[in-house]
Amino acid sequence: MSRVYNFSAGPAVLPESVLQEAADEMLDYRGTGMSVMEMSHRSKAYQQIIDEAEADLRTLMGIPDNYKVLFMQGGASQQFAMIPMNLMKNKVADYIITGQWAKKAYQEAKMYGQANAVASSADKTFSYIPDCSDLPISENADYVYICENNTIYGTKFWKLPNTKGKDLVSDVSSCFLSEPVDVTKYGMIYGGVQKNIGPAGVVIAIIREDLITEDVLPGTPTMLRYKTHADNGSMYNTPPAYGIYICGKVFKWLLRNGGLAEMKAYNEKKAAILYDYLDSSRLFHGTVVKKDRSLMNVPFVTGDADQDAKFVKAATEAGFVNLKGHRTVGGMRASIYNAMPIEGVKALVGFMEKYEKTI
Ligand SMILES: *Cc1c(COP(=O)(O)O)cnc(C)c1O
Repeated sequence: MSRVYNFSAGPAVLPESVLQEAADEMLDYRGTGMSVMEMSHRSKAYQQIIDEAEADLRTLMGIPDNYKVLFMQGGASQQFAMIPMNLMKNKVADYIITGQWAKKAYQEAKMYGQANAVASSADKTFSYIPDCSDLPISENADYVYICENNTIYGTKFWKLPNTKGKDLVSDVSSCFLSEPVDVTKYGMIYGGVQKNIGPAGVVIAIIREDLITEDVLPGTPTMLRYKTHADNGSMYNTPPAYGIYICGKVFKWLLRNGGLAEMKAYNEKKAAILYDYLDSSRLFHGTVVKKDRSLMNVPFVTGDADQDAKFVKAATEAGFVNLKGHRTVGGMRASIYNAMPIEGVKALVGFMEKYEKTI
């Protein structure tokens, strides 16, 4: 067996010990004689898996009792519609456009009501986070929407916007569980899990209880109502059972490793190794305004598309894979999520230093 250093933006690297545990339990989950994949979601064994997953997530994030935790399907993209369908009571919402994912959410919301783009960093290819201290927040906005970590462009909101009292809805797909979070600052936090938590197919939403009501836009399908999932413990229908089981293992891995404060310190250490090198390199350059840099997704370029392609090829051959930048921006991107070991980042920088000397 040989494992590579996988810098994929998602689906992405998972902790090796989690994969090993899943492998050990594949044929016989704890004496049940079956895999979790083969198990009724109504069984006692599965109920325990999903209950523990929720409890561990609540512990990790310090989720208050008046927030529901929902495990759903459809990825983060399905939330782009579910959010307006469920939360746009006045049919008005304000969106901050810091990249492609925020833009997609905004465009989707426009189908259901008045979505306003109250700030954007499109003018500089989303390489920074706009000043959000005094935005023209709509008086009757149902919520203010952000994408907190911009997976493609490598920026992060290090300070949440001033929403002037409106509920904040945040897509944290690519920074989920990468640092401690004050859940009370949000009306809703959600993310697809395939970036930092588990296998694609699960989306987790943490929603303040009072936002989950019967009062949804007319025609909202049963499966797209938060209340349906909240009232049924995320098991109105068959949940993405195996995916949730893996998420649960990752929660336990995080708890074993000191929780989110520890994870943040580790992520800062890892990212600093890469950013410090990029700041000193003559060949490679980061593309993002320094103060807005993500700890999770690190885009960089040489400034020459052919050189970028040559580097990606050489890196791949050396066992550093999925470094090609997003198809819309080119260059390179190293995604260094929780499960990327510091050794992987050190080895990548070592490789880049050597490569630079050959140019
Ligand atoms: C990947 C990603 C999405 C889309 O996720 P899907 O699960 O593929 O729908 C949305 N938002 C962010 C921030 C992402 O990184």
